[in-house]
Amino acid sequence: MSDVVTVNPATDEVLERYPGLDSASLDAALQRAADAQRAWRRVPVAERVAPLRRVAELLREEVEVHAALISREMGKPITEAIAEVRKCALTCDYYADHAEEFLAAQPISTEASTSFVAYEPLGVVLAVMPWNFPYWQVIRFAAPTLAAGNGGLLKHASNVTGSALAIESVFLRAGFPAGLFQTLVLSEHSMVDVIIADSRVAAVTLTGSEAAGSSVAAAAGRALKKTVLELGGSDPFVVLADADIAKVAPLAVRARFVNTGQSCLCAKRFPVEEGIADEFEANVRKLVEALAIGNPLDPDTRIGPLAKPSFVDDIDRQVRESVAMGARIVTGGHRIEGPGNFYAPTVLADVTPEMPVFREETFGPVMAIVRATNAEHAITLADDTQYGLAASIWTADMQRGLELGRGINSGALFVNAVVVSDPRLPFGGVKLSGYGRELSREGMLEFTNVRAVWAMEAVA
Ligand code: NAP
Repeated sequence: MSDVVTVNPATDEVLERYPGLDSASLDAALQRAADAQRAWRRVPVAERVAPLRRVAELLREEVEVHAALISREMGKPITEAIAEVRKCALTCDYYADHAEEFLAAQPISTEASTSFVAYEPLGVVLAVMPWNFPYWQVIRFAAPTLAAGNGGLLKHASNVTGSALAIESVFLRAGFPAGLFQTLVLSEHSMVDVIIADSRVAAVTLTGSEAAGSSVAAAAGRALKKTVLELGGSDPFVVLADADIAKVAPLAVRARFVNTGQSCLCAKRFPVEEGIADEFEANVRKLVEALAIGNPLDPDTRIGPLAKPSFVDDIDRQVRESVAMGARIVTGGHRIEGPGNFYAPTVLADVTPEMPVFREETFGPVMAIVRATNAEHAITLADDTQYGLAASIWTADMQRGLELGRGINSGALFVNAVVVSDPRLPFGGVKLSGYGRELSREGMLEFTNVRAVWAMEAVA
């Protein structure tokens, strides 16, 4: 097996080479996971959450180390990396506090002496995860899944292998049984199909691109295994004419440029009513030009490098093609020369639905502003996408925002708030954004066996 190599996206230097698993080591890892899960499923929920609380403590105690690792491997500005690790700790606590309630059997009134729905573990779950939130993506899978009595196998993105191994170490040091949660360093995607087909694995969850999602779902389909898919998004941020632009513009910039634009949940398309479009454009331009670009380890940095060199090529193509079709560059619109994968934070105006920055997902620092003739037109533009992760609407009239939001088909709707994932709310998409849910009780129950139980005191 070849090595898995990680490269610092800010400097292009090789950070580390990790040896990939060979097939004998993979087989041993699967066996360890199956054995550990068989014992774990019998541990009462109240005891299963004890190591989860310890994971939260360790993440808080070691926040600086984990955050620096994230920033070095994938380029996230350090202040955001620290916030990511803290959110992971909070989510571990959330499931530790709520697992018993979420997994409690639901009594059903029947002719039986007792009958209820039980939420039992499914088995060992494989998680194929992306690099953009290297800790958060894993914790939001692992915390509910392990608390529900399952085992977890992590195939992380190859550019964040150090993060993947550090997370595995946190779980072990927190007291989870050896083998229950393992990071598998895989040097070939074909090994994912082998793992999915293995009878010791019960289900698979993937967060990533449509291509990866469809490949993993096809392998799971062949093996008849349950899947949850969290794929891309092109979320609309709809600004109605009655919105307070001075207050909305900074939130629009945050919604688009967080994580240097590399989040499925970033707002990507900005339908704005005509009457306030000039004011919106002028406000966001000033704010975007003030964003500090640079070394992700510098606490003042707001825009770091993109995670991979190919992402600079992708975003540059989307911008150039859209400009050729008539988009106007308000600011940015070019690569930043020198080492690292830097692209200037960009605002494009006069965007129309045929353009790549509207039609495709833009996974980088590019805001696409589309003028809408009225509120209905803004909603039509917002819903004119193959994606359906989330949407936000900004207006002085919350009820109208909620009403109009029904015209957009998405997994989440926010009015007058930036879309975020929250352990208390289900997270996931419709259309090409995927299926199934993570987080909240709904997310936890995805990887349970919803079991009907019927019992009589004696045979009638
Ligand atoms: P990607 O190629 O899909 O990578 C994601 C994960 O899937 C990585 O672990 C990757 O491994 C693995 N993978 C890729 N192809 C695979 C295959 N054929 N079989 C098995 N595993 C495979 O994603 P990316 O292009 O690096 O990241 C950007 C995309 O992810 C965007 O489209 C974005 O919208 C999506 N994303 C979605 C969410 C969400 O929550 N919905 C969150 C983050 C990102 P390697 O690293 O080894 O290739």
